[in-house]
Amino acid sequence: MMKAREYAKRILLVRKCVGCREILDLDNFDSAFCPECRLAFQVAKTESCPECYGAATECSCMPNLLSKSGALTLRKLFFYSAKKDNEAQNKLVYYLKHKKSKRAATLAASELAFALRGELDTLGIEGSEVLCVGVPRGRAAVLSYGFDQSEEVSRALARLLCAEYFPAVRRRFGGKEQKKLNAAQRQKNIKSLMYIKDSDRARIEGRYVVLFDDVVTTGASMSAATSLLYKAGAKGVICLCLASDIKKEISKDKMK
Ligand SMILES: [Zn+2]
Ligand SMILES: [Zn+2]
Repeated sequence: MMKAREYAKRILLVRKCVGCREILDLDNFDSAFCPECRLAFQVAKTESCPECYGAATECSCMPNLLSKSGALTLRKLFFYSAKKDNEAQNKLVYYLKHKKSKRAATLAASELAFALRGELDTLGIEGSEVLCVGVPRGRAAVLSYGFDQSEEVSRALARLLCAEYFPAVRRRFGGKEQKKLNAAQRQKNIKSLMYIKDSDRARIEGRYVVLFDDVVTTGASMSAATSLLYKAGAKGVICLCLASDIKKEISKDKMK
């Protein structure tokens, strides 16, 4: 039976589903999703990739830009589509961007850790040998929201993997908003904004890095961060995201 104090806490604290924002009932108090959103999320993870035909969580396809940077793989939880904005998986991305939520970050991180385990096995490395790094959010957004969702999820992931979290890739103020630019402009813009401090290189040298970003579209930010990490001596960069827009990228490539 539930202890009286725990019961009182659940009555007094209102917790909402990170998908639909409905108030969670007492039985689901400690989960991030309500049962309906959890189911929708499970279904989204099984959507098959148009390139490799594997389920989203098994697919390691990546945009050309990212493969060129030498990234070992791109693990993802689902395929992003703007048409599905009202679906649980996209709402989780939205929630993480707008609200600093430990429950949402932990949910994302545990799903990512699970999707990553095969990769670490293949490379023969333990989670504890990994350096978790986030692709930094724009400085203006960090100021206006008060946090960086990449950092929140990377920290939670490091905790779950018993790995080390380190904000190796840093971002300057300025530049343009990525989503308003085309692929070539994005690449140029982001390259001028991200950097790694010389004094941080010693912590990166010879390490496997798990690099996280919430959504990967053209791969401009992630490939710029990957290149920087390799230049700083990383042994391998494993890319990880919640959602990838790979479908759009693939259909574009096929039309060429
Ligand atoms: Zn829900
Ligand atoms: Zn694939």
